[in-house]
Amino acid sequence: REDKVQRGESQKHENGANRPHNPPASRQNKLLQVRQSLPIWPQAANIRNALLENHVLILAGETGSGKSTQVPQFLHTSAWCTGRIAVTQPRRVAAVSLARRVAEEMGTPLGKSPQALVGYNVRFDDNVGKNNRIKFLTEGMLLQEMLRDPALTEYSCVVVDEVHERSVNVDLLLGFLRGLVTGTSEAAKKRKGKPLKVVVMSATADTEKLKDFFSEGFGQPRAEDSIPTVDGSVQPLDDKDLPAEKSQETSVASLNKISTCFVEGRMYPVQTEYLSEPTRDFSEAALLQIFQIHRKEPMPGDILVFLTGGDVITNLQQAIEDMIPNVITKDSGLPKLLVLPLYAALSQAQQQAIFSPAPPNTRKVILATNIAETSITVPGVRFVIDSGKAKIKQFRNRLGLDSLLVKDISKSSAIQRQGRAGREAAGKCFRLYTKSNFETLEKDTVPEILRCDLSSAVLTMKARGVHDVMDFPLLTRPSREAMERALLQLLQLDALNPENGNISELGRKIARLPLTPAHGRTIIAAADPEMGCLLPVIDIVACFNSENIFLEVKDQDANDEAREARNKLSRRQGDHLTLLSAVQAYASERTDRKQWAKQHLVSHRSMQNVMDVRKQLRAQCQQAKLLTKEQLATTDDDDDLNTISESTGNNILKCFLRGFPANVARLVPDGSYRTIHGHMAVAIHPSSVLYGRKLEAILYNEFVYTNRTYARSVSAIQMNWLEEIYAAPA
Ligand code: ADP
Repeated sequence: REDKVQRGESQKHENGANRPHNPPASRQNKLLQVRQSLPIWPQAANIRNALLENHVLILAGETGSGKSTQVPQFLHTSAWCTGRIAVTQPRRVAAVSLARRVAEEMGTPLGKSPQALVGYNVRFDDNVGKNNRIKFLTEGMLLQEMLRDPALTEYSCVVVDEVHERSVNVDLLLGFLRGLVTGTSEAAKKRKGKPLKVVVMSATADTEKLKDFFSEGFGQPRAEDSIPTVDGSVQPLDDKDLPAEKSQETSVASLNKISTCFVEGRMYPVQTEYLSEPTRDFSEAALLQIFQIHRKEPMPGDILVFLTGGDVITNLQQAIEDMIPNVITKDSGLPKLLVLPLYAALSQAQQQAIFSPAPPNTRKVILATNIAETSITVPGVRFVIDSGKAKIKQFRNRLGLDSLLVKDISKSSAIQRQGRAGREAAGKCFRLYTKSNFETLEKDTVPEILRCDLSSAVLTMKARGVHDVMDFPLLTRPSREAMERALLQLLQLDALNPENGNISELGRKIARLPLTPAHGRTIIAAADPEMGCLLPVIDIVACFNSENIFLEVKDQDANDEAREARNKLSRRQGDHLTLLSAVQAYASERTDRKQWAKQHLVSHRSMQNVMDVRKQLRAQCQQAKLLTKEQLATTDDDDDLNTISESTGNNILKCFLRGFPANVARLVPDGSYRTIHGHMAVAIHPSSVLYGRKLEAILYNEFVYTNRTYARSVSAIQMNWLEEIYAAPA
């Protein structure tokens, strides 16, 4: 058996039956049964044949039909598939949990072990082994790999999943892949004639746009007639007996171009209810609804609640847990409730918990962001509560910044959310808004590329050899002005060569860091020996790349002691150095960090995340030769901020000015702050340590909109620093 395992390993094109594994047979059989019951299973032969004959397969199918887990398994034994299969995901959570699931289904270990056929690679976590055939990764990571290898030569196939989400990264990826698959891009030559196949998967049936996009790449403006489709005939497929493929060798020229396939999902009826009056507080409404369902609706049937973000989820979880003892009493005879959060910043273990069945006589309540809309299928759900809101990234032209805003979702999102209730049986969906409210929602969510700051996207193109970014193939084209603004911003950051618009050396360095160009530029400025403040700047940037570390101080729950402890972390120069002092104090706490966080009204969970990001950023900076081992060795987490001198503090802020040159406002005679570009009024956010202060000028990292425009993460600066910085050579 061992022997066979070894041989199976090295023979990459063995038929599925000879897979090298040794799992308990019963578990494996059970998993196979589950796989065979998925709606996509009967289409396996069609999907394999479609890719044998075509370059591109566009596959639309209801969430949970088995696209993400099954398609890579259908393909990896195909004769043409001699390289790896990449499967991209918009979110880290999905990439990791899918990889784990597929490895389990294949009965092989995950990641780096020599037997592992499945691995994953997400920002800050690379778990890919030499022998992996299937690699799950985020869209951003695949773009990152293209810096090294723009032709993606290690892959035979790229499966682009969740395309309907239309993240900027997926749009960029489709542009690059179109160039490779049609052989029209510069990079395509490096594949030396080895074809790349692309599977584009979407949870919505709107495939025309994708088809046209790829047809255009093949030089067929609208080629519907010549596009063969494979929907229709359904052939059951035995995994051990995959159908013979038509020919062992396919040359690029003999291939057809594009094929389309639809997978019908199973869908039970979902009864939908609306509020009769709009609510101002959807958390409160969700809380009531959860307990109403629990009292009235029979078991089994878990509840999935769609909310906006980690903070709202944590608060609601607390509120539910506080209410449980009052409602679920011994006399009530009600089953138990188990509350599980699900959002991007959670640890993998916490995220994995949603897949385990509830203990006996217990109903699960999953509090999720729109991550559960299509990315992750939560089993056991029969009740959906939809807040109608989501946090989305929005670019403000006049302010030149991205901000995360809580917005109404689109109709298509509402329908996706509703669908989560009817996967396994008839279900119910409770919308926390009125029917007329629903009617006013936008039909579809606007693609991110039309909403966000394009500087990252443009730098991504430039760093991968795209000279004329205006000409790059994009599924949805942003306005010319938006592209020009991004180019200008990159010029200000010295990321482009002002003479020819090509990427500069500095731009390349920025592009290699997994950060926005503004944060990347800040880091690089800090690494300059004259500034010499890279480590503290990394600490602060790590905070900006995590959820807020400071808990909201509410009057009732903050005792004086905690407030005082928290105030001790404050620094008069502003929020940047205050974040730094908090990170350093936390890092130097050796005995009980959880307790420390509690005592200082700091979120332990966010802090753990900050420490994680900081570790990764340090490693990345080391790789990029911005940081030496010696520098790292001399850092001592016992340093607290008292050792950060005034001049180092100033240098830190100057580095942020480098990255955010436009985010400056100065005090004007009427006592308000006005941005130096655009002369817009901004106020310091109440959460800032500088709230209410009058200073010569302020630097800020982000904007928040409520009833007025607030600058958040604010520090005091001197106007003459601007001249000092821009007089110096880049
Ligand atoms: P699709 O991509 O069409 O949305 P998936 O392939 O993601 O479908 O899911 C197919 C099935 O596999 C679903 O029923 C889902 O619940 C299950 N599944 C996916 N990932 C996991 C996991 N990590 N653990 C347990 N079950 C999973």
